[in-house]
Amino acid sequence: MNNEQHTIHEFDINIIHEFFSNTERQGPGSPQETLKALKFIDGLTKKSKIADIGCGTGGQTMVIGENTPCEITGVDAWSGFINQFNHNARIKNLQDRVKGIVGDMQNLPFKEEELDLIWSEGAIYNIGFERGLWEWRKFLKQGGYIAVTENTWFTEERPAEIQEFWDKIYPEIDTIPNKVAQMQKAGYLPVATYILPDSIWLDYYSWSAKRREIFQKKYKGNSTAEDFIGTMQYEAELYYKYRAYYGYMFYIGRKL
Ligand code: SAH
Repeated sequence: MNNEQHTIHEFDINIIHEFFSNTERQGPGSPQETLKALKFIDGLTKKSKIADIGCGTGGQTMVIGENTPCEITGVDAWSGFINQFNHNARIKNLQDRVKGIVGDMQNLPFKEEELDLIWSEGAIYNIGFERGLWEWRKFLKQGGYIAVTENTWFTEERPAEIQEFWDKIYPEIDTIPNKVAQMQKAGYLPVATYILPDSIWLDYYSWSAKRREIFQKKYKGNSTAEDFIGTMQYEAELYYKYRAYYGYMFYIGRKL
């Protein structure tokens, strides 16, 4: 690929996609945590429809597929991830009811009240937690569930360094009671709210450290790539230092 044909923004996106290709997950999460969250969802049958928004290559989607009898649509903006997703579904022999499609979470292709469950791990921040909850609600049947993970402050106050970092990266980061209130206001009964273990971040960052090393060599002298690697590294360092103050939560709600 001749990178000079791309704008800086496109090149950046290509690097990000390349960085996260060929891994089971593109964000912090694990099969155990997906299964735990799934236990809160009642009444799923062969006729139930699930959407996994920002599914990536489908690590968590395949876990849901193997543990429910439902029809599942994974949606992701990047076709490379969707190709890998559909390949993974075939390997697991789930291709008849687990399908990946390219789509935008800001403009989803579902019908009103079509879905029994909306799933989204490590992805709703792309539209914003509140906006996602409001906009996706119409696709759920009454009584349908939503289950998402979201970066959250664990304490009312925190050191300036970590506050400033997340204010810049994701200003919607907020405390647990505020996130639960947002869920309630968006028209859901908050069913479960709990912290994911920090091992999901530690695993994610140790994988990412190995990947950064490879990228550092491959893209030596490329300032866009070096900036990306530097930001990833800084994010990981801050997590090791300040993980008592924030982390991922699962928020599970039921449409009222
Ligand atoms: N759920 C997966 C991937 C999380 S990474 C996991 O937990 O492993 C976030 C994903 O959101 C990426 O795959 C990215 O391509 C996707 N994404 C980002 N913006 C999007 C958008 N506007 N619409 C759909 N998907 C989007």
